[in-house]
Amino acid sequence: MLQQAVKEVVDHDNVINRPMYRPEVQKVIDQFHLKYVLAQFVDIHGAAKTKSVPISGLKAIEKDGVGFAGFAISGMGMQPHGPDFMVKGDLSTLTPVPWQPGYGRVVCEGYVNGQPHPYDTRYVLRKQVERLSAKGWTLNTGLEPEFSLFRRGEDGKLKAVDDSDNLDKPCYDYKGLSRSREFLERLTEALIPVGFDIYQIDHEDANGQFEINYTYSDAMSSADMFTFFRMAAGEIANDLGIICSFMPKPDPKRAGNGMHFHLSIGSDESSNLFHDASDPSGMGLSKIAYHFIAGLLAHGPALCAFCAPTVNSYKRLVVGRSLSGATWAPAFLAYGSNNRSAMVRIPYGRIELRLPDAGCNPYLVSAAIIAAGLDGIEHELTPPPACNENLYTLGLEEIAARGIATLPQSLKEAVEALKADPLFKETLGAEIVDEFIEQKSMEWVEYCRHVSDWEVQRYTEFF
Ligand code: GLU
Ligand code: MG
Repeated sequence: MLQQAVKEVVDHDNVINRPMYRPEVQKVIDQFHLKYVLAQFVDIHGAAKTKSVPISGLKAIEKDGVGFAGFAISGMGMQPHGPDFMVKGDLSTLTPVPWQPGYGRVVCEGYVNGQPHPYDTRYVLRKQVERLSAKGWTLNTGLEPEFSLFRRGEDGKLKAVDDSDNLDKPCYDYKGLSRSREFLERLTEALIPVGFDIYQIDHEDANGQFEINYTYSDAMSSADMFTFFRMAAGEIANDLGIICSFMPKPDPKRAGNGMHFHLSIGSDESSNLFHDASDPSGMGLSKIAYHFIAGLLAHGPALCAFCAPTVNSYKRLVVGRSLSGATWAPAFLAYGSNNRSAMVRIPYGRIELRLPDAGCNPYLVSAAIIAAGLDGIEHELTPPPACNENLYTLGLEEIAARGIATLPQSLKEAVEALKADPLFKETLGAEIVDEFIEQKSMEWVEYCRHVSDWEVQRYTEFF
């Protein structure tokens, strides 16, 4: 997608006069009057990290890289006395940063001592993408970011962005959409010029919650794009004096912020190897799609740690309902035909993984999806029968009677599941998985040691 955006502005007349950069790169620099470029990568949490480099240094970002003190970046497995963490840019990802005129962004990957760094999650995804390309396959992912808008009151506390957006069932509400349109339009209009093919924008099922949908792309481009999406949303909101949050569950009574991944595999022969019209179930799935689903389910509890990586994520994946009637988030390891109450929904002929939330690292999640799906394909795993019932209304005993397991209900449980499943260490690498386990275990301990308002209210005069 991003590459396409760059290509679209190629002006071949410039080729001869501009020997320094490839013509498409020079065209972006000229057309958008770039004076600086953000050399951007992500930490283990998927948060964007950058250095700003005057545009004259662009060539050096590609060739030599930009140096960082690796110990200062979360999850890079580095020490203060070690070598520098160098990031090298892929200039085909150069785009303008529309909300920051004069700036461009180039996506970078990390190196240490000249070697790709196994803690850099973009590199981790690249290795998994290469496993697919060895088979002639490309995983296409369509990410569906949901987010919540807030403003800060005079007391510094978070408030609803729009006080009138207070319906119990706010989904698709016209007034809610209309009253937040300034932000939504600015975000949309910042993303379209850099290659986001946005096709719809809606008010979601929580107050002040929205979703923007754009066309799918290969897994790496989608992860780069989602990172840009969060950068854009955060800064455009800040310019308007509001806050755009990708926190998984801001309000315990309302739906949380999911980030569903729509999945299909393309090859030279077919744009979607998951589709087979002769599937007797009517879901339009091929044999490899069933194996892929079986892999996602078999490794679901461990996969959950990457997809729902925060303490707060598990307030989204709860068994139970929300004020609007449903959380729309999965609580059980099941799949079903267009079943939005299951972890995997099958929109005809492809797969939607509903587990990830908007706070995930898209590189790590995409890499883990490939690892789990390929495991299902390579071992020809068969999934259990599809569940086409409303899992939200079945009792826990009825769910157990169908052989359906519950997803981890806390970060601790998910991390334990990740420790117990050797697949991800074997495929994504022990370095990144051990580091992730270490970081998330500390996050859990820190959370457990925090004394919450709930505890103070409950116990202060309890005894
Ligand atoms: N907000 C829901 C979630 O957390 C998803 C709603 C929807 O289906 O779009 O996953
Ligand atoms: Mg949604």
